[in-house]
Amino acid sequence: MLQQTQVKTVIPYFKNFVKEIPNLKALSTSNEKKILKLWEGLGYYRRAKNLYKTSKIIIKKYNGKIPNNFTEIKELPGIGDYTANILLALIYNHPHIGIDGNVKRVLFRLFNTSVLDATNLFKTKRNSDLAEAFIEFGALICKPKDPKCYKCKLKKMCLYYKSESNIQFKKKIKISLKNYDIFCYLKKNKKQIALTKNNNLGFLKKFNLPKIKERSKKNKNWTFLCNYKKSISNKKLNINLYYKFSSKIPPKHNWYYLNKNEEFIPSFTKKIFRQVSHLY
Ligand code: SF4
Repeated sequence: MLQQTQVKTVIPYFKNFVKEIPNLKALSTSNEKKILKLWEGLGYYRRAKNLYKTSKIIIKKYNGKIPNNFTEIKELPGIGDYTANILLALIYNHPHIGIDGNVKRVLFRLFNTSVLDATNLFKTKRNSDLAEAFIEFGALICKPKDPKCYKCKLKKMCLYYKSESNIQFKKKIKISLKNYDIFCYLKKNKKQIALTKNNNLGFLKKFNLPKIKERSKKNKNWTFLCNYKKSISNKKLNINLYYKFSSKIPPKHNWYYLNKNEEFIPSFTKKIFRQVSHLY
């Protein structure tokens, strides 16, 4: 849940999740619909799907225990290098650390490198603590903008602190801007909207959305409602929202109520609900 999401946002979701699904076994015997409903509003729904798939594999293939080697752990859905490393350190005390943006910055400042010399770093039996300490240290002391060097215990060995030029750490994030048109079929008397899972947007593939396409100029027969921007992961979407009232909908679309739904609706779509709701 914490991937790309702040702790304070996650806390209520986490509490509610573990109340409903208290352990791995319960997760593996749950169902995707329920898990997505508990995740609703948190975004990045692929995390929830992967969590569910992974729980089933761990129960069936590994007898309920997370594998303790890098190759097997990385084969689990949703587990990349970072998560594999951090799990091996935290669970099994293996000499690994998870290298994310914060940890890279710390290494860069300390040693003027982001490549780890593991032989020197892991001369400890407390690998789990070391991995955790790197994360906390990057968040609390060696912060991106204003590192607290005055109270840092590592300043005597820190190249950033010693250097006159101060080594700069530059974060490179590529943001891609894309233009999309979204078309909402609305059923006037029932406060309903047509949604489909049959879209090919990578980041919201197979979720309930209105018809969505990359921008084209031919939008005759549709009424323009509004334009807005939406950021998802490293994508910025520039959206034109169109609507029409109709009782007929294209194949692979279904009607959904704007205000009551048993089924999981991503927050991307809920925003569209809010925008069309005043048209009824
Ligand atoms: S001395 Fe400053 S820059 Fe160096 S590790 Fe400590 S907080 Fe970071």
